[in-house]
Amino acid sequence: MNDRDSEALLGLFLQKGYIQAKSEKDAEVILVNTCSVRDHAENRALSLLGTYKKFKQGTEGRWTKDEGQKMKSSNVRAKRSSIASRKVIGLIGCMAKNKGDEIFSKMPYIDLICGPSAFFKIPEYVERIKRSKRSERSPERLKEVLSEAEGRPKGVEGDKGLRIKDLEDRDRDESFYDSVYRKEPDHAQVVISTGCSNFCAYCIVPHTRGRLRPRNPDKIIAEIKENIKQDRRKITLLGQNVNDYHFKSQVINFVELLRKIDKIEGLEELDFVTSHPKNTCQELFKVMAESDKIKKHLHLPFQSGSNRILKLMRRGYSREEYIELTNQYKQITGGTLGTDIIIGFPSETEEDFNQTKSLVEEVGFKYAFIFKYSPRLKTKAAEMVDDVLEKVKSRRHKKLLDLQKEISASIK
Ligand code: SF4
Repeated sequence: MNDRDSEALLGLFLQKGYIQAKSEKDAEVILVNTCSVRDHAENRALSLLGTYKKFKQGTEGRWTKDEGQKMKSSNVRAKRSSIASRKVIGLIGCMAKNKGDEIFSKMPYIDLICGPSAFFKIPEYVERIKRSKRSERSPERLKEVLSEAEGRPKGVEGDKGLRIKDLEDRDRDESFYDSVYRKEPDHAQVVISTGCSNFCAYCIVPHTRGRLRPRNPDKIIAEIKENIKQDRRKITLLGQNVNDYHFKSQVINFVELLRKIDKIEGLEELDFVTSHPKNTCQELFKVMAESDKIKKHLHLPFQSGSNRILKLMRRGYSREEYIELTNQYKQITGGTLGTDIIIGFPSETEEDFNQTKSLVEEVGFKYAFIFKYSPRLKTKAAEMVDDVLEKVKSRRHKKLLDLQKEISASIK
């Protein structure tokens, strides 16, 4: 989802006449699109921001050493500092939504903070910030920029121009998906819904991306047709839980949407991520089996093989139901499976872990993304004691990785 968001956002900037810089040092605008699902991703984003701070301070410029030597050193310093002061640095996406207030006050060199719902407004915000930087030396002009800004938020006046923070949870404007830029020549990712209303105990997504918001099926189909026209005939549908897709005014669910998309002329290949076991049904498997375009592969996260842990995780299915579902899937489609697993959820015992291990052996996944649990702010699980020792998490993690490696090697 983040990849597609970044791609669409880049498209909006290109449509406005921006060009892609060769490196961050050269860039006038740097936006860090972030994920909050795990600690590691947030720490990486913070470390990147630390690097970009140096650009702002003018300790890094876009001048090469040779170019610099041609100028008198005082001029070089002045030039660098002028470029540095024009740079716009933004933190956007889930981490912005999650920790934006704190970061906005602690890191004054960050000009823009936007949650996932505000992505369609980012180019406008960047323009406003850039205008305020150009008028930095004229308080009169800065006042004008601040007052001419339309819509919320108005922004605050920083030492170096305007700073904007938009963490509002709202429907994304469809114009965001009109962005025509695509990285791949033959494949397109198409968002069918944003957010999630499941509130699994460990997951930050409903808190950062908001409740499930399905896109209008007509808009989804139009976007797919447009991509096919551009010769991108392989389509991946994206949603945090695609199976929960339902568009009320047209009484259409995910299976019906798939049927409609499957009939689009010129489509060659179709797949989708991510599926939730509690919303996955035989009807879906039948559509997959009947189609010669839908890939016979299902990413179906099970997270834990222990019923006790599944209950604490609020996943809404049991180990037995999950295994039954995968048996039906294999029987009807003959396809392969992938999954996500969390190791070391609060109170996970050796017996709980063994249940997870035996589920992996029983189902036989083509691949598995295996993560060590880390508490996420605002989630239900963060209220529990993170009591599985790091060394125990690491041992179980390695054991499961080794097992999955063997299984993956045996599945074509
Ligand atoms: S279904 Fe997926 S995205 Fe939604 S809360 Fe659960 S883990 Fe998070």
